[in-house]
Amino acid sequence: MTKLIKSIEDLKNELTNASKPVAFVPTMGSLHNGHISLINKAKKENKTVVLSVYVNPLQFGPSEDFKSYPRNLNSDHEKCVSSGVDILFAPEDREIYPEDSFENIQLIQPPAVLTSILCGKTRVNHFAGVVTVLKRLFDIVEPQSVYLGEKDLQQVYVVNWLIKSYNLQIKINPCPIIREEDGLAMSSRNLYLTEGERKIASNIYKSLKIARENVKIGIFTPSKAVLEGLIFLSKIPGIKVEYFEARSKDDLNEVNKDTMKDFYFLIAAKIGNVRLIDNVEVS
Ligand code: AMP
Repeated sequence: MTKLIKSIEDLKNELTNASKPVAFVPTMGSLHNGHISLINKAKKENKTVVLSVYVNPLQFGPSEDFKSYPRNLNSDHEKCVSSGVDILFAPEDREIYPEDSFENIQLIQPPAVLTSILCGKTRVNHFAGVVTVLKRLFDIVEPQSVYLGEKDLQQVYVVNWLIKSYNLQIKINPCPIIREEDGLAMSSRNLYLTEGERKIASNIYKSLKIARENVKIGIFTPSKAVLEGLIFLSKIPGIKVEYFEARSKDDLNEVNKDTMKDFYFLIAAKIGNVRLIDNVEVS
């Protein structure tokens, strides 16, 4: 049975008797099969699984969807019960941020090489908000490992930086992207899409596959393959691409024209007001 816990004090009490290793799955809730896949992996490899549901205000920009972000704690609780989560931690803001105001919170700033690219270009301070909340959650939960989805690939690199630079003894487990039948990466934000937009959205993954295939068959450089993906998307009305890039697996640096493997194609695109991200690996 999943225990729903809202305060740090109760969580700490519960964790005193928890069997180790403890795995942590941080989320913003509205759980879907992408989240469940993280839980399943965490369960297989650990004795206790803690999942957090916290919509972190610090990682949203002023014109972003913090207020409208879907919140479904009751159904999240049910999903935690059926997937075998031991502890569901759903704190209020003041538990995580006891500061008087959000302006007084000292942000942890990851290095610009990681945050000035890809999503960081338009989402200023997003990754600072992510690592600031995760550092606090890590300090509260004290897990041996954390399970993160590769859908938010840049986040995996940024969290890796956080763990290394604070010398935290936490193992990162990146988990593969879970997709809908038509290929769309599962996301809580898919709930915002209208029926028409939902149909269009599957082209995001199609464009990534086109780029990957073009490199795999050996005729295109990564940048030419990106162009092919963009040409494909330009024929579909209703998709506005924010970025479509090839980045190295090592450190998310740009790749050169001779690179044929060990990199990712990453995309962010808007359909109406809904911003979606996705990526594929070329191995
Ligand atoms: P979120 O609730 O969107 O903050 O996501 C919580 C965690 O679930 C993050 O580590 C995400 O990368 C991961 N996640 C979200 N969607 C998917 C997906 N479709 N497949 C795998 N992991 C996912």
